[in-house]
Amino acid sequence: MEKRNLKGLTLQELEEFMAALGEPAYRARQIFKWIYKGVTRFELMTDLPKNLMQKLNDKARISMIEIYRKIESSLDQTIKYVFLLEDGNMVEGVKMEYSFGMSACVSSQVGCRMGCAFCASAIGGMVRNLTAGEMADEVLAIEKDTGKKVGRVVVMGSGEPLLNYDELIKFLNLLNSPLAFNISFRRITISTCGIVPEIIRLADEGIPVTLAVSLHAPDDSLRNKLMPVNRNYPILQLLDACKYYIIKTKRRITFEYALISQVNDTIECAQKLSRLLKGMLCHVNLIPLNAVRGKGFEKSKPDQVAAFKNILSNSGISNTVRREMGADIEAACGQLRRSILDEVK
Ligand code: SF4
Repeated sequence: MEKRNLKGLTLQELEEFMAALGEPAYRARQIFKWIYKGVTRFELMTDLPKNLMQKLNDKARISMIEIYRKIESSLDQTIKYVFLLEDGNMVEGVKMEYSFGMSACVSSQVGCRMGCAFCASAIGGMVRNLTAGEMADEVLAIEKDTGKKVGRVVVMGSGEPLLNYDELIKFLNLLNSPLAFNISFRRITISTCGIVPEIIRLADEGIPVTLAVSLHAPDDSLRNKLMPVNRNYPILQLLDACKYYIIKTKRRITFEYALISQVNDTIECAQKLSRLLKGMLCHVNLIPLNAVRGKGFEKSKPDQVAAFKNILSNSGISNTVRREMGADIEAACGQLRRSILDEVK
């Protein structure tokens, strides 16, 4: 019989598993704590009796992803990881250092099927969803490698997290659990390309994470070209869902806007964006594009970035130009995994 993988189970699922082994609920809590300290062997769970360790070895296992490649930025303390999953697939994660502590950016799917025109993760499409345990493993692997606790998590690596909804919610609850990572929901950000029904579902979930919506264009005709998802969920529908999220969670929404030279960085685009977002409880993250080879897009010039920012600021729209993290290490979504897949072709 296949051994049950205990990583990624909710505490309740683990309690049910232990009950089936004839064990009390407090044993599940002990094991749950060990798992999210990064322990993968039952023999190292020192508060378990020997006979239980043996029983667990017969019936259960704890998976762990491996670091396949790791590249450290020489510009800042950013580290980009390629993780090897148990089935041989690979995903990327990034560790970033900020004045407020260490942040982990994790992937939610192997590849992505959303097809955004500027993104390396879209090349090759979606392979599969990650489990909650695999997403937790990305955080654990970063903690183990750096020897430090992750204080914030952004689900902004490869994949569209809201299309892996159930596993995402399990992962968020693991992050938040005092017995696991103990990270407040307010320190967790979910990035979506704008799946309207799932934004509404998340708003109703009662989990007040920060929602970051990849907008990247101020009107439907341009957004249709950059982000095919817009053909299903056009901008006004998306903004209505965002307003609902704000009302339900009382949280400010972040709009991500990658500035692409001569494509979406014009004065006219900035003015349209200002009109679109006026009066909303939101913040705009302007990101000079981390250009992906072969995609034909260039990063906006610094004076264009400054002009765009000024227009938003003068319209009273809160915004920042995101500091480029690890610009020397192919830190854009999906680029490193892509370059490894190209190497092994
Ligand atoms: S930007 Fe995000 S949603 Fe779009 S293709 Fe890349 S990973 Fe998928």
